Amino acid sequence: MAIVLEDVSKTYEVKGRRIEALKKLSLTIEDGEIFGLIGFSGAGKSTLLRLINLLEAPSSGKVNVNGTELGSLSGDDLRIRRQKIGMIFQQFNLIESKTVYQNIEFVLKASRYDRKKTRGRIEELLDLVGLGDKVDSYPKNLSGGQKQRVGIARALANHPDVLLCDEATSALDPDTTKTILKLLKRINRELGITIVLITHEMEVIKEIADRVGVMTEGEIVEMDDVYSIFSHP
Ligand code: ADP
Ligand code: ADP
Repeated sequence: MAIVLEDVSKTYEVKGRRIEALKKLSLTIEDGEIFGLIGFSGAGKSTLLRLINLLEAPSSGKVNVNGTELGSLSGDDLRIRRQKIGMIFQQFNLIESKTVYQNIEFVLKASRYDRKKTRGRIEELLDLVGLGDKVDSYPKNLSGGQKQRVGIARALANHPDVLLCDEATSALDPDTTKTILKLLKRINRELGITIVLITHEMEVIKEIADRVGVMTEGEIVEMDDVYSIFSHP
């Protein structure tokens, strides 16, 4: 089991008002699967990803990633654990003033990756995503699809066992979306990386997910394999 959430709640207070972003949510994502989470805006999808990525702590309940109960971690342990969780974003989140190389180098430096192995690692990552010839390009000279490939290379830099995708294809046209989803599938199958993706796009889920959770108002209201979810009216 890669990710286990147990009775997880997350409450925000905004101007004295309580917002229950997640309500006693329980979910198990298996090692090596591609799990898709679909739901309208405000359903709680991003909140769930932030908890898995250790960016936030739950108000109550347990979040366990690869056998480690995250509430038990602090400081350095938390930082090291976070490096094993990659994340890609709708707007790619590349640093515009840095080249493709430097964007990836940045996360390797932060994780104190062996400097002597850095160049080799970056070349390997760019080959994996098919961008070997863009190593010295700046983001502004790349297409959306190429930017997301850099985002994927960066997310994989520290050999994560989980890759979280936050609306990763929502800014891309349908053809580019297809090629990025193909790449994600290949990464899942070849590297054995568990993928969790959140999206509001049904087509994305149909194309790539093994299992789907449907989220509404902080709860998973339906969960099944992709064929069952989309085969009933
Ligand atoms: P989704 O990703 O499905 O669009 P979110 O997880 O972003 O949903 O949001 C779920 C609910 O929690 C929404 O009502 C949202 O306004 C609220 N929310 C999310 N993050 C915060 C925050 N940092 N502060 C206050 N409210 C938040
Ligand atoms: P930190 O909090 O470790 O100082 P940031 O959160 O500011 O770093 O992230 C630095 C850069 O790395 C940003 O461009 C961000 O989008 C990206 N990033 C952050 N977390 C991840 C992750 N888990 N996987 C891939 N890229 C990430």
